[in-house]
Amino acid sequence: MDFAFNSEQESLRDDVRSFLEQEIREGKWEPQCDAWIQGFDPGFTKRVAQRGWIGLTWPRQYGGKEQSFVDRLIVTEEMLRYGAPAACHWFADRQIGGSILRYGTEDQRREFLPRIVRGELYVGLGMSETEAGSDLASLMTKAEEQDDCFLVNGQKTWTSGGSYINYIDLFARTDFQAPRHKGITEFLVPMDLPGISRVPMVDITGTEAWNDIFFDNVRVPKECVIGERNKGFYHVVEELAYERGGMERLMGNFPLYDGLRRFVANTKKDGRPLGEEPRVRTLMSELQVEFEVGRLLMFRAASVMDEGRAPTIEAATSKVHGTSFEQRLANSAMELLGPYGGLTGRSSEAKMAGMAIHSYLASKGYSLQAGSSEVLKNIIATRGLGLPSQS
Ligand SMILES: Cc1cc2nc3c(=O)[nH]c(=O)nc-3n(C[C@H](O)[C@H](O)[C@H](O)COP(=O)(O)OP(=O)(O)OC[C@H]3O[C@@H](n4cnc5c(N)ncnc54)[C@H](O)[C@@H]3O)c2cc1C
Repeated sequence: MDFAFNSEQESLRDDVRSFLEQEIREGKWEPQCDAWIQGFDPGFTKRVAQRGWIGLTWPRQYGGKEQSFVDRLIVTEEMLRYGAPAACHWFADRQIGGSILRYGTEDQRREFLPRIVRGELYVGLGMSETEAGSDLASLMTKAEEQDDCFLVNGQKTWTSGGSYINYIDLFARTDFQAPRHKGITEFLVPMDLPGISRVPMVDITGTEAWNDIFFDNVRVPKECVIGERNKGFYHVVEELAYERGGMERLMGNFPLYDGLRRFVANTKKDGRPLGEEPRVRTLMSELQVEFEVGRLLMFRAASVMDEGRAPTIEAATSKVHGTSFEQRLANSAMELLGPYGGLTGRSSEAKMAGMAIHSYLASKGYSLQAGSSEVLKNIIATRGLGLPSQS
C-alpha cells in the first residue's frame, strides 16, 4: 500500500535512496537502529546539507527550499529506512529551526537558519530536568536578568547528543513570581560559554548518547532569547508536537524490521520454512498492520504541519501508536530469534541479532522520551476527545 505521491516526490525519494545506497556501498557507514538519535556523523550531515535536504520546508531567504512537510517526511523516512547517521542535524531540522523561524528575530533567523541548513549547527534539547520531565512547567533552571546578560544556574538531563552539540535549546525560568507556565523563556545558547559542563549518561544499552548538562553562573547574552520572555512554555508545547509527529517514532528500528522479515522468509526450522508456523505468521502480519497504520498516522501529522498548525493531537496519537509498534517489534524479534537475539557480532546475521538486543533494551525508553504514552493519552483524552482533565 502507498500514498499518491506526485512525480516530484517520487523523484525526491529516488534521489535520497540512491544517495544513501551509494554511501553504504562506499562503506561510509553501516545501517544502524536508532541512528537518527545516536548516529553522530558530521561528515554525513555535511553531505546531506550539500544536497539541500536540511531545512527543506524553510523559506528560501534563509537557505530553505520552501517544500512541504510531506516532502520532508519522505526524506526522513528514507534516512530511517537505511538507518543513516543523521543525529547531528536531526533536532535543529525537526523542531528548533522551526521555533527560530516562528519566534526568533530577523537577525536570529538570518544568523542561525542558514548555518543549520549548511549542517554546521548541532543543537540539543534542554528541556528535561531531574525533577521536571512530564511536568515541564515545574522546571527550576534559573535565568536571572542582569544588566547585560542572563545568569543561568541549574541542570538539564537526558540531553540527546549532549557530547556533540554546539548549541542547546534551553528552557529556563525567568519569572519566579508568575504562575509556573508563565515564567519560562527559550534561549539558544552556545555550548562553549564558560560555566557549561556536560556529563555523559550511560543508558541500559551501554550507549552514551545522552548527557546531563550543568550551568554554573553562565552569562548568557540577551541576544540568545528566542521570542518573548516568559512565553517559553508555549513554545515548548508547540515544539513537542513537531518532535512527536515524525517517522522516527515508527521507523527508528527499521533495519531490524527489514532484517527480521528477511530472516523469517529465508529461515527453515526442522526442515520447514519458519514462515509456515502459525505463531510466526501472526506476529509478522500483526507487525505489518501496525506499521502501515503508523505510516498513515505519520503522513497525516505531516499534512497537518503543511496546513500551518502544530499537530498536537495527531502527533500524540501517532507517537503512542509508533512507539507501541517499536516495542512490539523488539519483543517479536527477541521471541523469533530466541537466545540468538541476545548476541552481537560482525557477521550479517549476528548484526541483526545485535540490533534485536539493542532495540529490546532501548525500546523501554521510547514510550518515555518526547512525552510518555500515559501523558500523551491524557492529551488525546482531554484535547482530542473533550474528556475532563484529571483533578
Ligand atoms: C532516551 C531518552 C532520550 C531523551 N532525550 C531528551 C532530550 O534530548 N532532551 C530533553 O530535554 N529530554 C529528553 N528526555 C527526557 C524525556 O523527555 C523524559 O524522560 C520524559 O518527559 C518523562 O519524564 P521523566 O523521565 O521525568 O518521568 P516522569 O515525568 O517522572 O514520569 C514517570 C512516570 O509517571 C508517569 N506520569 C507522569 N505524569 C503523569 C500524568 N500526568 N498522568 C499519567 N502518568 C504520568 C509517566 O508516564 C511515567 O511512566 C529523554 C528521555 C529518554 C528516555
